[in-house]
Amino acid sequence: MSYERPHDAADERLPSSNQPGAGPGRPRTRYHRIVSVTGPLQLIQAFANTLGTSPGPDELGTREEAAAWLRTAELLPAEAGLSNSEHAALLRLRESIRDVLAAHTGGREDAAAAARLTRALADGRLVLTVDPASAVRLASAARSSYPNLVAAIAVAIAGSAASGAWPRLKACSAPRCGQAFYDESGSAAVRHCSAHADSM
Ligand SMILES: [Zn+2]
Repeated sequence: MSYERPHDAADERLPSSNQPGAGPGRPRTRYHRIVSVTGPLQLIQAFANTLGTSPGPDELGTREEAAAWLRTAELLPAEAGLSNSEHAALLRLRESIRDVLAAHTGGREDAAAAARLTRALADGRLVLTVDPASAVRLASAARSSYPNLVAAIAVAIAGSAASGAWPRLKACSAPRCGQAFYDESGSAAVRHCSAHADSM
């Protein structure tokens, strides 16, 4: 089976987990506000890092800002917005992802964060679909935009977990940083983002 984004407008906009590059003929400059959203890991990382180092900017701070970011990331159709409750749920989703990434950094289990992330991802209403050609994929059972964007993030997490990359996606443990980074080291024991790698 393949891990792809949910149906509708989101289709074909991000490469699958097996295609880390932007793909032939697909200009990277398309993602002009977000650096290299080219695969599942980059999507999760970019989403987690919408909250800057503390004190810093929050790109999802208001409903309007969040909708604008999601549209740029091609997670939300141009005509769609976010309700207050969806905005609050989106922030809870990000917080739970950041907490789980921090647990990855610490090499520890965080049952509360894992439970919160599980609950937040349930909004995506993921199902497994089979089309007439017997192609199988994960998709949202919902038609509305919020469940579909949560499903896209859930599928990205599933894809990164399937490739073994998920435990290496971490949150920097430097004071007031918390930025998500990918640990490419052989030891998988890196605790700091590139900006703080030398200072620790
Ligand atoms: Zn850092």
